[in-house]
Amino acid sequence: MKKEIFLCAINNILSGTCLEDCKFCTQSVRYHADIERYNYKSIDTIVQEAKKAKSYGALGYCLVTAGKGLDDKKVDFVARASQAIKAEVDNLNLIACNGTASIEQLRYLKEHGIDSYNHNLETSEDYYATICTTHSWSERYETCQNAKSVGLQLCTGGIFGMGETAEDRTSLLNAIASLNPESTPLNFYHPNKALPIKSRNISKEEALLIVSRARKLLGEEKLLMVAGGRELLFEGSEELMFEAGANAMVIGNYLTTTGDAPLKDKKMLEKLGYGVAVSCHG
Ligand code: SF4
Repeated sequence: MKKEIFLCAINNILSGTCLEDCKFCTQSVRYHADIERYNYKSIDTIVQEAKKAKSYGALGYCLVTAGKGLDDKKVDFVARASQAIKAEVDNLNLIACNGTASIEQLRYLKEHGIDSYNHNLETSEDYYATICTTHSWSERYETCQNAKSVGLQLCTGGIFGMGETAEDRTSLLNAIASLNPESTPLNFYHPNKALPIKSRNISKEEALLIVSRARKLLGEEKLLMVAGGRELLFEGSEELMFEAGANAMVIGNYLTTTGDAPLKDKKMLEKLGYGVAVSCHG
């Protein structure tokens, strides 16, 4: 076996209701993208979906809510969902991804079973104002610091191919590394005709370079995940992204786009000679 790949599944538990203007995001209500929009799923549904993800080999399970950040209602809901999952599913690393968050909110989530907080820097500090005007990059960076300060594992990464320059890519990778995250998702922009960013300015070769640079900057022991956009760039040549340094991937659907079926992904890993990790702690 070559190496073990960590599988992570995403559950969009509150979808498509965000008032912010991130130009890459179909969940913003401003762009009227044709996606499913709904209020909170029931906790029972979330637990059943977590069991299913676990049965497909997921070790990480991410509870995502649309919106700029946590408020009292959201923090309470995510905490209850987390407790319910932990009571019924063993050995699942629970990740919350709920936007901007204070130290108090993050501490509360940790006390209720959340292991890790995902908050992506998205792009470089300089380019951020071009892709979002309703909140700042520094707020994002601060939330990442808050997560670390309460002892949550930090999962932070970004999206490449949104019109940024090579310098922006370097700056983003350095900023991610400066936070010393436990895991890093690398997303590659998925164009949608409703969104202001119309095309993706990144090739497979450039994406592979980003994967290998991220691996060098983050160190060998960290999780480096190719997340959104994987199917668009690497379908049929996944081995290249693993050879470049990726050791994790998302199975199942993304937030608003469809991923490869989990069983197809497992077969792909088997065929390429990779194992599926069964523990987050080696
Ligand atoms: S804040 Fe989050 S959910 Fe809202 S538009 Fe930006 S990326 Fe999308």
